[in-house]
Amino acid sequence: MAEPGVTLSNPVRDVCDYDLLFDCVHCGLCAEACPTYVVTRCEMDSPRGRIYLMKSLAEGRIDLDDDAARHLDLCLGCRGCETACPSGVHYGRLIEGARSFVERNHRRSFADRLKRRAVSAIFPYPDRLRALLAPLKLVDYLGLRTALRAIMPHVVRDWLDLLSPLQANSRPLAKAAALTPRADAPTVVVHHGCVAQVLADSENINSERLLAAAGYRVVQLAPNSCCGALDLHSGNAARALDFARANVRALKNSGADAIVSAASGCSVAIAEYGDLLKDEPEFAEDARAVSSKVRDLSSLLLDAPAKPKPEFHCRITYHDACHLAHGLGVREAPRKLLASVPGVTIIEMTESDLCCGSAGSYNLTEPTMARDLARRKADNIVATGAEYVVLANPGCEFQIAAELRRRDSKIKVVHLADFLAMASL
Ligand code: SF4
Ligand code: SF4
Repeated sequence: MAEPGVTLSNPVRDVCDYDLLFDCVHCGLCAEACPTYVVTRCEMDSPRGRIYLMKSLAEGRIDLDDDAARHLDLCLGCRGCETACPSGVHYGRLIEGARSFVERNHRRSFADRLKRRAVSAIFPYPDRLRALLAPLKLVDYLGLRTALRAIMPHVVRDWLDLLSPLQANSRPLAKAAALTPRADAPTVVVHHGCVAQVLADSENINSERLLAAAGYRVVQLAPNSCCGALDLHSGNAARALDFARANVRALKNSGADAIVSAASGCSVAIAEYGDLLKDEPEFAEDARAVSSKVRDLSSLLLDAPAKPKPEFHCRITYHDACHLAHGLGVREAPRKLLASVPGVTIIEMTESDLCCGSAGSYNLTEPTMARDLARRKADNIVATGAEYVVLANPGCEFQIAAELRRRDSKIKVVHLADFLAMASL
């Protein structure tokens, strides 16, 4: 479909789902919800500007030069624009298609390619990440992180800064449920993710224990492979499909009635398997069924019969992880759950749903914009006077904690599952 009155001389290029571009009526209501536009004030870094860019690329009006690729690369894929858009533009699908187009057709600088390949080769594979982090654990044990940091190139330094000292990573674990779930209890599976199971497995374990304590029947998933979100966000559509197929098989075999992930980006990726695999007869039906079972932890815990909770006196603020708020539309349930803990006072921060700059692997590939957004988020957190920032995505936790560490702030950044485990001890 071409714009009314416009005749295209060339066939439309395979940039994204072209017809979806016409849902945009160019009203610009999404601009202030877009973190990159808020920072740069450049129209081409706004959702409307990027949609215009995708359309121009698709229609062959412009070429994919460094400038065009840059504006698309700078998008966080946070979907703040989807929440703000009154026309229901499926921006997430558009940008995933455009990223794949960029990967197929754009030659990046050597340094950029190296960085992206390192992310792609390591992060979706827990064993590789564990092997890479083993020497770092020793470095931290010997107290040599600062010395190591000083001799590393700045890219590696930026990545190192995102990791708190690995030896200091003692996280609270909820007590394992002593109860046997009811025979008719819904079955829940927690997808452990890839990076999360290496760097933040307490969030998975606590999610499982809290669900079991709330009466759910919790089953384990085997295997726990990457959900494919990292590939979808970086334009590697083929491998994202491989991961999606593997997960659909494993999640179907788990027999779960509900699928939870401690990482909201993974939840959204799984919720979109139905769409991703819709053209594959072998998987389409199972993928739709799997996607329909995605739930968020807080809603499941709120649905369970309430139990008396011990008091836990503290002031907290809640950060809305993009994929939970904009992807799954979950904002109230975590707040209600936190407010139900006696002694907890919630103080809302300004721009709680503006991206912190983590965005999957974005803070590894786009450190400058990621840091600008982390600073903005940290300013808003500090202004609340809270003792804890609670959130529901490990990537946000690493990103915000790194920025607060740079400021020597005492504010603790805690995943919702870890916070509830701590409050229930
Ligand atoms: S996904 Fe986020 S960064 Fe990208 S255009 Fe939408 S609001 Fe802006
Ligand atoms: S994406 Fe939606 S909000 Fe943004 S300009 Fe288009 S129609 Fe308006």
